[in-house]
Amino acid sequence: MNTVIEKLAKFLRLEAERNYDNRAVFGGLQNMLEPWKAEAIEAEVPESIIQVVISRLRDYPNLSPQSRGETLGGLWTRLKSEFPELSKLPSEFPPPHVESEVSTEASIVDSKSKGIESELTRDGTSEAETTPTTEDEKGREHKTKTSEPTPPQPVKKPVALEAPLTTFPGVGPKTALTLKKLGLESLGDLLWHFPRRYDDYSQLKTINRLWYGEEVTIIGTVEDIQVRPVRGGKMKLVEAVIGDGTGSIRITWFNQPWIADKLKPGKGVVLSGKIDQYLGHLTMSSPEWEPLERIQLHTNRIVPVYPLTAGITGKWLRRVINSVVTRYAGQVPDPIPASVVDSAQLISLGQALQQIHFPDDSKMLEKAQNRLAFDEMFLLQLGVLEQKRDWLELETQELPVEDHVVERFVNSLPFELTQAQKLALQSVKEDLESSKPMNRLLQGDVGSGKTVVAAAAIAIAAENGVQSAVMAPTSILADQHYATLREILPNSTRINEEGIRLLLGSTSNAEKGEIRAGLVDGTIQLVIGTHALIEGPVEFSHLGLAIIDEQEKTSVNQRALLRTKGQNPNLLVMTATPIPRSLALTLYGDLDQTVIAEMPPGRKPTETRVLTTGERLRAYRFIRSQIEKGHQAFIIYPLVEESEKVDAKAAVEEHERLQTEIFPNLQVGLLHGRMKPDEKDDVMRRYRAGEYQVLVSTSVVEVGVDIPNATVMLIEGANRFGLAQLHQFRGRVGRDDQQSYCLLIPDSDEDAENERLSAMESTVDGFKLAEIDLDQRGPGDFLGTRQSGFAELRMAKLTDVVLIEKARQEAKKLFDLDPDLSNPEHESLAKVVKQFWSGGKGEIS
Ligand code: ADP
Ligand code: MG
Repeated sequence: MNTVIEKLAKFLRLEAERNYDNRAVFGGLQNMLEPWKAEAIEAEVPESIIQVVISRLRDYPNLSPQSRGETLGGLWTRLKSEFPELSKLPSEFPPPHVESEVSTEASIVDSKSKGIESELTRDGTSEAETTPTTEDEKGREHKTKTSEPTPPQPVKKPVALEAPLTTFPGVGPKTALTLKKLGLESLGDLLWHFPRRYDDYSQLKTINRLWYGEEVTIIGTVEDIQVRPVRGGKMKLVEAVIGDGTGSIRITWFNQPWIADKLKPGKGVVLSGKIDQYLGHLTMSSPEWEPLERIQLHTNRIVPVYPLTAGITGKWLRRVINSVVTRYAGQVPDPIPASVVDSAQLISLGQALQQIHFPDDSKMLEKAQNRLAFDEMFLLQLGVLEQKRDWLELETQELPVEDHVVERFVNSLPFELTQAQKLALQSVKEDLESSKPMNRLLQGDVGSGKTVVAAAAIAIAAENGVQSAVMAPTSILADQHYATLREILPNSTRINEEGIRLLLGSTSNAEKGEIRAGLVDGTIQLVIGTHALIEGPVEFSHLGLAIIDEQEKTSVNQRALLRTKGQNPNLLVMTATPIPRSLALTLYGDLDQTVIAEMPPGRKPTETRVLTTGERLRAYRFIRSQIEKGHQAFIIYPLVEESEKVDAKAAVEEHERLQTEIFPNLQVGLLHGRMKPDEKDDVMRRYRAGEYQVLVSTSVVEVGVDIPNATVMLIEGANRFGLAQLHQFRGRVGRDDQQSYCLLIPDSDEDAENERLSAMESTVDGFKLAEIDLDQRGPGDFLGTRQSGFAELRMAKLTDVVLIEKARQEAKKLFDLDPDLSNPEHESLAKVVKQFWSGGKGEIS
């Protein structure tokens, strides 16, 4: 039988089973008319039938249940006369019956599961598995449901949402295992498995109507596809020509040669991406692509495209999610109080969940995204407020000092503090004096001189007889801090040289034991180290100050662990990643913030150039000329793959080539993430000592490394890095008063890439670059996903200041009313907040 008619029949019968509540289709039967009509025309359903269906159902929502029953009955009879096969299906459109609330609920659930079942089995999915457990579990589920206590229940329990996926017809244990790889275990998880993107087939563009710079989806046929080596065989470029009858366009992908095996000439393909131009022709580079599935084309709508895993097809998942969404989205209890939903002018959660998967149009999609993004931000803000309150309730030992103590240390330094450093130091001093533990974020661009501020804090702690710990993300950095602090602290402070120790993962067991003993008996005043500080049984006699450098590289749990090593120790977090204001408020709402927005005097801004791939030899020549002047150079290679192993290999090969072919007379050092910690330290030590003139490195050199004599930084594959990260690399040079240079070589000479990088040429302002970066890449890449809570941000964009502000205000309002969320009507909200933050006891400092 005609599937379009089948589908309609199914909805009509379901609607009858549901006692004509107009919820068989989400949003009501009338809502499906437009898409159904399109499908019906496509399927060549007679025009007269289409007209009948539309005219009878158009006003369906406004009918009484009585006349709804009659309408559907009439429509069924009419359909049967045209499609006799329908007579085989059970069909009854009895008058509606009236029942009490509770039993209606039960019967809804019941008819719902039947609905899904019939839908899937009749769709005849070949993937469908039937499992013996399914029926059992369903039986059990029903029992628990009907035996649920009678009203009133404050929160409706969506039992079905927690049900394992195997309760879903068509999902057997094997499929469930595969779905688990996507983090999908319950029916509810499916509701929250958001599309990765959408294909808007209502707005398809033909190739002859494309414009440079626009984001589009095009559909076409592969006319030609080739793989060719580029960059001396190191990379592979896939070049395809895609045509759609109106024209053709050149598409390129870097280093994904397998695409050529998937996309043979003659195959249909859907491409989504941005239109670039190259040598006067429009192109797309590395667009998202999918083989063309007929079904997508024929659904005249915005089609969701889901994250997938091997063994699951997009088509199948879309159908399953569609069923789940249709049945359950409207049932999900909304944890956000109605007053907040109203005041923030949000659509209902059920509607948002429905529209996020199968949006009626782009406007509804936006509303759904807005609603879900709001929820995330709201939960995040509530957690931040709670943390701040918890923090304010803590007490710690006061660490006051006389002015001369700090003065003596500052005067011993070979330079004057900048105004910004003085202010930062003043705040830190006040924090330490207070009985509330310090909880401060010290932000300052690379090279702004955060270390001396930290050192002064250590001096203050020592003056009061308490210990300090400095935790750095890498052994290179820890080692460097160790060297610096040993140089500047003794003599002018109460810390003596033997009181400073370095604890790394690679430290010998004997020495580790010695350090642990010294920390327990208090002879060690300052310990500097990596995560080794918090691993294992390190204990302090009295940890009063914990300093975390380059905090974005340290995980939330690591930070929390360090804190537990003392009794509410003071915490100073330092970061060189400039964080745009909007973001800082959200991210660090619980931290006091200080920005060192001034560079030490005499620094010359690093001159930056984006070079073409053809200018590489010039770059080498330039490096040689700098080395002849007695300077040193860094050459950075990007992550080629998501694997340190491959990465290291590329660096090893490049190092070899540079040493033998390009700089045979120089000493070229090599640093990569696969080296042992002592090997790394050794290389850094030699480089610092000038034994190497050139250091080839992967991105391990990114944070904090201080080599004042280095004046050139060459970055290969610069297009692979975000601007904030490039800025970090660049900060490795220009740390002295000599002119420094940063050379960026992208993988290819595509104009669009280089344009993005040109921001590096025009500004050395880390904040400005961070804003641009955040805009270009979104918060996920910008921050990494390590921040607890922030990993949960799937919808919210940290650049959406309006939304953030709205959520902040609503959260504050609610928090002022009911800070513990102990009000019964906030019960489910409290639960969700807790869940949201459960990543690591909600520490985001
Ligand atoms: P970052 O903020 O990136 O951690 P550092 O603390 O490592 O920066 O300081 C960078 C360099 O600047 C160091 O060599 C340091 O000795 C030097 N420095 C710090 N403060 C000043 C200052 N006020 N005047 C001159 N040089 C300074
Ligand atoms: Mg630093």
